[in-house]
Order: sequence, then C-alpha cells, then structure tokens
Amino acid sequence: IRPPECKQTTTLQVALRCRPLTPAEKSRYNALIHIENEKVVVVSDTDGSRNREKRFSFDYALGPEIKNLDVYKRVVSSIIKGVVQGLNATVFAYGATGSGKTYTMAGTPEDPGLMVLSLQDIFQLVSKEEKDHKFEVTCSYLEVYNEVIYDLLEKSSRHLELREDPEHGVFVAGLKRVQVNSAAKILELLHIGNSRRKTERTDANAISSRSHAVLEIIVKKYCRDHGGSTQTLQGKVSLVDLAGSERASETNNAGHKLRDGANINKSLLALANCINALGKRQKKGLAYVPYRNSKLTRILKDGLSGNSRTCMVATVSFADHQYHHTINTLKYADRAKEI
Ligand code: ADP
Ligand code: MG
Repeated sequence: IRPPECKQTTTLQVALRCRPLTPAEKSRYNALIHIENEKVVVVSDTDGSRNREKRFSFDYALGPEIKNLDVYKRVVSSIIKGVVQGLNATVFAYGATGSGKTYTMAGTPEDPGLMVLSLQDIFQLVSKEEKDHKFEVTCSYLEVYNEVIYDLLEKSSRHLELREDPEHGVFVAGLKRVQVNSAAKILELLHIGNSRRKTERTDANAISSRSHAVLEIIVKKYCRDHGGSTQTLQGKVSLVDLAGSERASETNNAGHKLRDGANINKSLLALANCINALGKRQKKGLAYVPYRNSKLTRILKDGLSGNSRTCMVATVSFADHQYHHTINTLKYADRAKEI
C-alpha cells in the first residue's frame, strides 16, 4: 500500500527560453546555441566544434525570436484556464542573472510579460462566465530578500512574518491583498511594485540577483446551483521571478545535497531541493519534500503540492561568454523535467 501523499499529482512542465543577444553583445560574442523543432536545445562547445555538442530536450524550447505572448500561449494559458476553474498553479522563471527572468515575468510595455498576460487572460475568462457566476480576483505582490518578506504593494514595507493556521495553511501576516477588476489597474500596481524591488542596476552580482518576487493571484468563483445555494471555488496562481541561479546551480549540479552557504540564496536552494524531492517522489513513490526550509518554499507550498501544476521557464543567454551559466541551467532544467 502506498502512503497517501503519493497520490499527489504535481506535474512540472519545463520550458527553456533563450533570449536574444542584446545589441551590445552582438558585436562582441558568438551564439553557441541553436534550437530544433521547439523541443531540442543544441549547445556547441565554446570552441564551436560541432562534434562536441550537447543536446537537451524539453517540453518546450523557445528561441530568441519568440515573444512573451507566444511563451504565454504555448506554456501558461492552459494553466490559467485551470486556475479560473479552481486549481492551484505556480509559474517560475529560473536562470542566471541577465538571462531574461524579469523580462519573461514582467516584460515591457511593448512585450508584456507572463504576470501581465496571465492577469489579462483571467479577466477575459472571467468575463465570459460572469453572467452565470460571481467572481472575485485579488492579488498580492511580495519580495523575499535575505529571507525577509517585504510587501511590494506598500510604499515602505515592514518585515512581514509567516504564520500558519489549520484553516488557511501558511500565510503572510499583514500582506496587502487588493481586489482588482481591470488589467490596467494591475499593470499600474505591478509597475510600482517592481520599482520597489531591491535592485541595483549597475552590478550584476548585487542585490537584484538575490531577490525573489512573487505575484499571487487568487480567483474565487461563487457557483450557484439550481437549488439556489452557493459553492465557492478558489484557484490560485503564483508567478515568481526568482533570484539569479548562478551560485545555487553550481552547488546543485555537483550532485550534493544543497547546503546553505554564506553567499548562496537560501530560498533558491530550498526550492531546488523541493523540486529534486518531488522528482524522486514521482519516480520512487516516496520522498520527504522539505518545504519548511525557507520562506519562499513555505509561501509556495500550496502551489507545489497537492493537485497543482507547476511550470518552470528556464532562461538562458545565447552568448558564449555565458556558456557556464547556460550549461548549468540546462542541466538543472533537464533534471526538473523528470517530475
Ligand atoms: P534577469 O532578470 O534574468 O537578470 P533580465 O530580464 O533583466 O534578466 O534581462 C537581461 C537583459 O536582456 C535586459 O536588458 C532585457 O531587456 C534583455 N532581454 C531579456 N530577455 C529578452 C527577450 N526575450 N527579448 C529581448 N530582450 C530581452
Ligand atoms: Mg531580474
């Protein structure tokens, strides 16, 4: 007899996204990746020799010409349909600093990212059913930096604490949750929230690479049945712009159990450990999943366990000077797809 937690059916989809070279990079670096059939990533060795190339296949492999909207349509839109019907989901961007995580999740006004597109789609899906059911869409937006939680919807956030109770599970006490009814309103909130992130543009190794941003959208659907009674369905999606994976992936790919180090991001390591454990569970039936080891994994627990769908967009750069990071991310994503 298998223990009950084995019934959990977390499924992880892995999409690999390769960003284009920036104009400044184009003049200085060579591309060393190419993508076949939107499924296979081929990396030539740094000397460019084709006989030492490495191949990885994923649920999706998306090249530099692919816009955020296409990433959304291919990878995320079916997940969002489920959220409006009461399911839980997590979408996160994983990759080294500079590989395109924030571009993928937040995007630009010309090429809005997955956070924005998800919300727009939720409003569209809700409007189709609004004749029959009442809906409530709420959002929160937080940052985990150095294992401290900050509210990105507050002007100057204090340090927020995680609490747990039997009814609500784990929650962030005092986190602002706003009810929204238009995508435009959300865009404004996200924009302000992002400007509050602990970022420092000039130094790639600085603060921005260590902060995780989590947008949580809850969709409540009040279903009236013929007898006149109302049932509430609740779906939730967390969209996560993770801290840079550069330090974590090196430790992780060495095959050791990940340990906290002075320079290693605790939440990122804990997430990687949870994902490894979920992978083992899927294969062998049982493994302890260490959700409790960091703020981020405690916050994301609902969206990673139970009947949740998880999608990882692993971001890499084409440029050869990023070779080391690219290979690390590919290896990591390759193992995650076993979940
Ligand atoms: P990260 O958040 O992983 O550190 P960014 O999202 O900030 O990386 O991306 C680094 C740079 O590359 C930025 O200048 C960004 O505008 C650019 N960039 C990233 N992804 C894309 C893309 N898909 N298309 C065009 N430019 C991109
Ligand atoms: Mg970023």
